[in-house]
Amino acid sequence: MKNIYNYSIEDLENYFLTINEKKFRATQVYEWLYKMRINNFDEIKNMKQDVKEKLKEDFNLDKLTIVSKVQGQDVYKYLFKLHDGNTIEAVLMKQSYGNSLCVSTQVGCNIGCHFCESGKLKRIRNLEPSEMLLPILAIEADLNIRISHVVLMGIGEPFDNYDNVIKFINIINHPKGIDIGARHITVSTSGLVPKIEQFIKDGKQVNLAISLHAPNDEIRNKLMPINKVYNLSMLIKTIKKYIRITNRRVTMEYIMLKGINDSSECANELSQLLKGINCYVNLIPYNETSNSQFKKSNKENVMKFYDTLKRNKINVTIRKEFGSNLMAACGQLRANYKEDQ
Ligand code: SAH
Ligand code: SF4
Repeated sequence: MKNIYNYSIEDLENYFLTINEKKFRATQVYEWLYKMRINNFDEIKNMKQDVKEKLKEDFNLDKLTIVSKVQGQDVYKYLFKLHDGNTIEAVLMKQSYGNSLCVSTQVGCNIGCHFCESGKLKRIRNLEPSEMLLPILAIEADLNIRISHVVLMGIGEPFDNYDNVIKFINIINHPKGIDIGARHITVSTSGLVPKIEQFIKDGKQVNLAISLHAPNDEIRNKLMPINKVYNLSMLIKTIKKYIRITNRRVTMEYIMLKGINDSSECANELSQLLKGINCYVNLIPYNETSNSQFKKSNKENVMKFYDTLKRNKINVTIRKEFGSNLMAACGQLRANYKEDQ
């Protein structure tokens, strides 16, 4: 039996055609799943019993169980249990512009960035589209809210699970489904160049964020092993192509690490690197992890860095911190995101 939340509307249309039913049944199912939020197929009112019986045979509506929920100021961190016993996190942030959910895309991550908590936990497996989507339904029901924004910035590298991630985006973006606008969805990547190329071809209208974190290869190599495969010049070249073809602005994420990438030389070098590129830099206060090698920059340095970029005419914002002692333990799944587009 297959989980119905893995299916795009087109998949369901094909399914109904194979059982000699009309395609519009797919839209009906979507409305019952995502507008009415049913828990079993019997709740569907506008469908013949034999079709419902067939749905019951072929699909399940299994949800995820909430294992724990930790609350901070304007932030809720959830832990969910998957059907195979693995757990994943999702973080809900109450922002001035709406409710934003940070979702995970894999159990663990293979990219191994040194500053990141989930880099230590090797990838166990990719998440299915339903496992990225069901936290949305669960949290909306639990808090009695609507989620308006989704950021793929939880555990995992979204572009290392490309097909499922794109399917997930298509499902939540569909007007007959949860209907989260493409411009309210942001996917973040550590810089898998061939997958960014593919993303350009697929033409998804969602926001793209790049984990840059360094102004040159020397520093980036020390932080992110992926830079030895796809270095900055390859990455920047592909980002320029993305901007040229999509006409969209890119977010450059830059974690402020004390004594590593936060000097004024780094700020000037970064300005040079990004000159003329349609992007904005999001300076991220580092969430300290169990790796004591990395410390967060002090506020003064962050402000100096910010001012230098501004002076050099680079668009820049400082990410709002949702930091409480409670949330500091969340490791990689940073409970902070500032949208400014
Ligand atoms: N794998 C993707 C998306 C998930 S990580 C990526 O790397 O882009 C989302 C963002 O959180 C990335 O910019 C990542 O560098 C950043 N991040 C990781 N660990 C962090 C920490 N301890 N504090 C602050 N940000 C962190
Ligand atoms: Fe993976 Fe992103 Fe963490 Fe790097 S920062 S280890 S790519 S989750």
